[in-house]
Formats: sequence, C-alpha cells, structure tokens
Amino acid sequence: MRVCVLGGGVIGVTTAYALAREGHEVTLVERHADVARETSHANGGQLSYRYVAPLADPSVLARLPHMLMARESALRVVPRLDVHQWRWCAAFLRACTRARSRRTTAELLALGFLSQRLMHEIVARESFDFDYVRNGKLVVYRDSASFESARRQADYQATLGCEQHALDGAACVALEPALAHIGKEIVGGIHTPGEEAADCDRFARGLALAAKRDGAHLELGTEFTGLRTKGLRVLAAQTSAGDLEADAFVVCLGFRSQPMLAALGVSVPVYPLKGYSLTLPRANAHGAPRVSVTDAHHKIVYAPLGERLRIAGMVDLTGMSTHADDDRIALLTREARETFPEAGDFSALQAWTGMRPATPDGKPLIGATHFRNLWLNTGHGALGFSLALGSAQLLADLLAQRELAIDGDAFAPSR
Ligand SMILES: Cc1cc2nc3c(=O)[nH]c(=O)nc-3n(C[C@H](O)[C@H](O)[C@H](O)COP(=O)(O)OP(=O)(O)OC[C@H]3O[C@@H](n4cnc5c(N)ncnc54)[C@H](O)[C@@H]3O)c2cc1C
Repeated sequence: MRVCVLGGGVIGVTTAYALAREGHEVTLVERHADVARETSHANGGQLSYRYVAPLADPSVLARLPHMLMARESALRVVPRLDVHQWRWCAAFLRACTRARSRRTTAELLALGFLSQRLMHEIVARESFDFDYVRNGKLVVYRDSASFESARRQADYQATLGCEQHALDGAACVALEPALAHIGKEIVGGIHTPGEEAADCDRFARGLALAAKRDGAHLELGTEFTGLRTKGLRVLAAQTSAGDLEADAFVVCLGFRSQPMLAALGVSVPVYPLKGYSLTLPRANAHGAPRVSVTDAHHKIVYAPLGERLRIAGMVDLTGMSTHADDDRIALLTREARETFPEAGDFSALQAWTGMRPATPDGKPLIGATHFRNLWLNTGHGALGFSLALGSAQLLADLLAQRELAIDGDAFAPSR
C-alpha cells in the first residue's frame, strides 16, 4: 500500500519505520530540513512507560486553585478568546474522575509495555546510538500527602503488573547520591527500576535513516498545506513539492494536527501545553543524577543523556505561540540549580521550548477518521517519546486490519 505520513516528529518517524518494515511504500513529509526539529527535539528524554497516570485526575482539581494562583507555579494558564481552549479545558475537567483516571492509567500502561518491548527489539536490531540507558526512575516527594497519594497509585499499578518500590528519604539519597543537597526535604520517593532514558532527537534521526534504508522516502523541507479529497476519500496530500498521491494518509503533525484537520472538518481535541527544557554538560559523578529523577514538588524531570543532563518542566496553556518566555526559563533554571547545584555547567546551558500535543483525557488519538483512508496518530501530550513505538505498531495493525496487540478502542479518535 502507498502510505503518506504527514509530520516528521518522533510519532511520524516511528510510524514511517513500522510501515516501511512491513513493506508499505512510505513517504514521510516534514517541513524542516531534518526530522524531530519541533516538540521531539529536546524533550525530557524519559522513557516513562510506567508513569502514565493522566494529568486529568481528581487530585488535580483540589490542587488547581493553588497552582493557578501561585506566582511561580509549574502550571500557567492564560485564558484566550479561543473556543478551542475553553472546550479543551471543559473536557479536561470532565475527565478528572477517579474511575476515568484509573481506566486511562490501565490503557496507557498497556501501550507503555508494548512500547518498551518494541524499544528493546529496536535496540537489539539497529546500531545507531541515541544515549539510551536503562537507568530506572525515581520520583521524589517533598510533602507527605503527595507521597501517600503516590503510594496508593503504585499499589494500584502493582495490580496491573508494574514493579515499583516506595522508599523513605534516606533510601532515595542512597539510591541517587546527587539528591543529597535536598535530602532533608525529601519525605519519600517511588522508584521504578524498569524505566529508561534516551535522546529523542537522536533516536528519531537514527530511526528515520533506518526507515529510509527499509525503503521509506523522506520528503524533507516540504510543507504540507492540505488534502485533495473526493467524497469521503483522500486522493492526495497537497504540499510545497506538489501533490502526493497515496492509498492512505496518516496525520502525525503534533500540536498542529488540530488546525490542519479543522480546515477539513475533522475535529481533534489536541491543545498545546508549552514546556521548557535545559541541556547542560554533566558534572562529576556525584553532582548530576544517573537515575532519571522527577521532583514532584516542582514538576521537573532530570535525565542523563550521555555526557549531558536534560532538565524539563513547566506546563503553559497559553495558546499556539511557540515564543519562549525568559521568565519561565529563569524559573526552571533556578529550581534545577537549587535541587542539583553541582549538576553541571549552568553557564553553558541550552534552553529550549516545545509544545506538547495534549488531549484532555491524556490518551493519544490513534485510528481512523470519517474519511475512509485518513488516519490519525497524534495527541501524545507529555508521553510521546515513551509511547511512540507502541502507537506506531497499533496504527500499522489497524491499517492492516490485523488482530491488535492492545485494546484499540481505548485510543480511537471517535471515543
Ligand atoms: C518540555 C517537554 C518535555 C517532555 N518530556 C518528555 C519525556 O520525558 N518523555 C516523553 O515520552 N515525552 C516527553 N515530552 C512529550 C514529547 O516530546 C511529545 O509528546 C512528542 O515529541 C510529540 O511528537 P509528535 O511527533 O507528535 O510531534 P512533533 O515532534 O511536534 O512533530 C510534528 C512534526 O510535524 C511537522 N509539521 C507540522 N506542520 C507541518 C506541515 N504543515 N507540513 C510539514 N510538516 C509539518 C513539524 O515540523 C514536526 O516535525 C515532552 C514534551 C515537552 C514539551
């Protein structure tokens, strides 16, 4: 089958790779000169297969007023005259029930486990380097209520096959000595030994070349502008390089999926949640964490990527602008420095901003649209790197009308 994959972030690249390996004639359309130049470029680097509980959770409702009022909060909302933003927020609030949060956790865990299995197959099969480590992840808490809530979540996830351990503050520091500076503040932590980390940009670039080797055509530096349709069938993708005809089209345009599809009358609940990252040269063995760390209080993640440390955080609901706010970068830098003062050379840090393509319920949209040959693989929010390989496999299975490895209805765009 001729398949045109629209968008060369980590989702489009993994989709192109999975489809090319199955013998489809794949064309990947990306407007930048290389893949992974946007949200997949400098994200947190955590392959977080088991920390998938959605943001939409009843506990968020209780904390929301404080988070919105606090001057220096990880969450920032700037209301816009934008019906899409209001609709998204309303759907998010509706998803904040215990029953939905638990069901979503179970569904995302299934996708996470599938993704990890496929990642291990890729590591065994492909030879490119992407700073991949199986280093485990430690989420540390600075207040008892949050820690207790995390323990309950870990107990629930244990029933779904997750290996996670609750540690006291001293055990957290023993596991990750770089936490010593804030050791006294740590009430406890949840350690997940099976988690991994890697550089998403290097992964996507390596995998794009592997897809090319397997026969995919990379149409880089090409802007997708629309679709030529006839009735409920898409005939061609209209691009700056001319019309590209295919039998099937897969939209992997990240946060831009929503405006591009709206023009075609396909409504998708994807809204950008802007975030920031810092990348710095790592310091000595004791200064920078080797385990992936999440500081639950500041909502900041830390991952070792080879000789660098990646620090990421902040959730801004501020519209479609990709503008980097210096105050947010300064806040992230200060909080990271207070937590790991000897992590590395802060004077040499590189700051970056990216737009998480988020759905209100925290699940990606994978599957068919009302156009017979138009498919979606988008809306991965804060977990796109972690869930990319499972999502690509699910899309490939749906396209081939094969038996699915996991419950496809859970991710259907029409859910
Ligand atoms: C601060 C931050 C930290 C994060 N940390 C993590 C983490 O630790 N672990 C994790 O799993 N996930 C993390 N994420 C989330 C993850 O980065 C995203 O879910 C993922 O990158 C989304 O990939 P994507 O391919 O859907 O989107 P993108 O990477 O944005 O790809 C979409 C592509 O479509 C292209 N495109 C758009 N419009 C057009 C057009 N008209 N024509 C041609 N091409 C077009 C773009 O150029 C882009 O390359 C983080 C995100 C942020 C912002």
